[in-house]
Amino acid sequence: MNFKGNWERRWHPLLKEWVVLAATTSERPWSGETISASGSEEPEFDPKCYLCPGVTRASGIKNPDYIKPYAFTNDFASFSMDAPDVHHKSELETVEPVHGTCRVICFTPRHNITLAEMNVGELADVVSLWKKEYAELGSHPKIDNVLIFENKGKVIGVSNPHPHGQIYATGFIPRIVKRELESFTDYRRSHGEGLLEAILRNELEKGKRIICQNEHFVAFIPFFARFVYETYIVPRRHVARITDLTDEETLAYAEIHHQLIVKFDNLYNMSFPNITMLHNAPTDNNPENDHFHFHTEFYPPMRSPDKLKYLAGFESGGGNIINPVNPEEAAGRLRQAPVIHYKHKK
Ligand SMILES: [Zn+2]
Repeated sequence: MNFKGNWERRWHPLLKEWVVLAATTSERPWSGETISASGSEEPEFDPKCYLCPGVTRASGIKNPDYIKPYAFTNDFASFSMDAPDVHHKSELETVEPVHGTCRVICFTPRHNITLAEMNVGELADVVSLWKKEYAELGSHPKIDNVLIFENKGKVIGVSNPHPHGQIYATGFIPRIVKRELESFTDYRRSHGEGLLEAILRNELEKGKRIICQNEHFVAFIPFFARFVYETYIVPRRHVARITDLTDEETLAYAEIHHQLIVKFDNLYNMSFPNITMLHNAPTDNNPENDHFHFHTEFYPPMRSPDKLKYLAGFESGGGNIINPVNPEEAAGRLRQAPVIHYKHKK
C-alpha cells in the first residue's frame, strides 16, 4: 500500500506545547458526523427570540428597540459578582471564591443575518462596543480578565441563530490567556522584541500562510495551527488591548475581520461554524500586561465541506491536538476564497 503523508510535530510558541501534524494524502474513510450547508429560513424578527429588539426575556426584562449593537448581562450567567466569600485550603480540597459577570452582545437587531452578511461599518460598531465593554468591565477592581468571543453555528451548540457574541469578565485569568502572557513576557526578556511581532515577520517573509492583509493588520494561518482553518488576525503595531486601537485601526480591524469571515463562508458556500476569540491583555494591575499582543484567533471546527473535527480521545486525554491538513495547503485554499459574500452574488 502506497500511503503517503506528512507526519511531524510543530512547536506552538504561544502555548508552549507541540501540535501534531498528520496530513495524509489519501484521507481515512469517514463514518462520523456530517453536516449539510442548507440552512433553515429564519425571519428578520422573531418574537420568541430573547435577543430580538422589544422582546421580554425570561428574567422579565424587556430588550430596548435597539438599532446599533446592544449589550446586556446574561440572565443565566456562569459567573456572579455576588459569589460567596468562601476560602478553604487543605492538601486535597482547596476552594476560593470566583467573581465575574457574563455579557451578551447582540451584533444587530436583525435576527436572520450573520456578521459576514453585515457591512464593514456595522461590524465597526460591534468593535466599538467590544472596546467600551472591555474598558468598563476591566476597570472593576474584582475583574482580572475580559474575554470577548463568539460561538457560531448549531454544530458547536449555539441554539439561537440571532447574531450575537459573549463576554466573560472574571476575577481570575483563564489558563490560555495566562500562558500567552507568560510567553510574551519571556520572549520580550530573552529576545528584546515581541513574540507576535517575530511570528508576524516570519509569516510575512514566508508568505505561504497569509490569507489577507491591510495597512494595520495581517490575517494568517499560523505555522503551528491546531485546527485546519485556524486563523489569527494580528495588528502590525504592538497593542496590548483592543482599547489601544486608534479609530483608523478600529475600522481597519473591522475590514479584515469581515474579509476573513466572508472568505470562510465562501470556502464551502455555507455559513461557516466558528469559535472566535479576542485575546486581550488581562485587566489586573500586573505591569507585565503591557507585553501582551492583542490578536484574534478563529477556530472553525470544519475539516472539509461536510466533516467536523472533534477533539477525540488522544487530544482530550493526551492533550496534544492533531491537525489533519498542512497549514500551508489550508491557507492556499482560504486565500483563494472570494471576498464577496456568496448570498450577495448575482
Ligand atoms: Zn432574534
